[in-house]
Amino acid sequence: MEPTELIWMSGRFVPWAEANVHVLTHGLHYGTGVFDSLRTYATDAGPALVHHRAHHERLRDSARLYGMELPFSVDELTAATRELVGGSGLRESYVRTIAFRGSGAMGVSPRGSPVEVAIATWGWGAYLGDEAATRGIRAKVSSWRRIGHQTHLPGAKATAHYLNSVLARSEAEELGFDEAILLDDDGLLAEGSGENLFLVKDDLLITPPLASGALGGITRAAVLELAAALEIPLAERPVTRGELYLADELFMTGTAAEITPVREVDLRPIGAGLRGPVTERIQSAYDAAVHGRDPRFAHWLDVVPVA
Ligand code: PMP
Repeated sequence: MEPTELIWMSGRFVPWAEANVHVLTHGLHYGTGVFDSLRTYATDAGPALVHHRAHHERLRDSARLYGMELPFSVDELTAATRELVGGSGLRESYVRTIAFRGSGAMGVSPRGSPVEVAIATWGWGAYLGDEAATRGIRAKVSSWRRIGHQTHLPGAKATAHYLNSVLARSEAEELGFDEAILLDDDGLLAEGSGENLFLVKDDLLITPPLASGALGGITRAAVLELAAALEIPLAERPVTRGELYLADELFMTGTAAEITPVREVDLRPIGAGLRGPVTERIQSAYDAAVHGRDPRFAHWLDVVPVA
């Protein structure tokens, strides 16, 4: 990670190296934090923050789900992010916003630990490797299950949830795979360790419902919008492990992962074992949209004009 100059911390900009928290931070001990991430892409008019407001709204909702009142409004976070990105000099970057219970009181009760918020930006290339977008990745169905609605609030993007993702991703990597695929408690498809999943079967695009515990991905929603524009038929319905193996194409979506083909699951090639044509169409439509080359999706972009 290449440091940038400044990080926004609860209302002020501080130098990257000084953006620190106390070791007795509640969120560090009990996982009482929520976060969100977006990417900016270069457009002719300057860097565009993609789905900017939606990411801060999801942060607010994640916080609300876990009973945290954010001390900053979506408007304030949006303004701070624009200022941070504008000042960073980066044409393309990743933006991470985190809200967490700070230090003040110890013990599980969150009372007495005020909520702090920070926003940082830095350059981040392809999340699943440079060749992933064209060659596709190799995934493994995890022995770990996606967190469920009976023990967590999987619709929140909460720091504590990522221990589940870390278990799954580490297992996959240790066994020589690139990424994990998590099933839910009923053995139905949920998502990747940090991505949503789509499969293509007989020209139909299929993605599991959020009842599976999958995060309501903003890229997932963007792909649903693209599929409608490209007139690709779509179904949001439960998916079995067997259907994964028999899919013609499979791809993952995420802010970090963008649109990444999956060429193999559990050592079985998916379709022809290559990036498929529907995946490629969606990738190129997404690429055009985020770079401001498709006016139909101009509403996705919040452009920070360059001086
Ligand atoms: N699922 C999980 C568990 C994730 O961490 C992410 C990344 N935020 C996603 C799905 C994809 O969400 P988005 O498209 O909003 O980045």
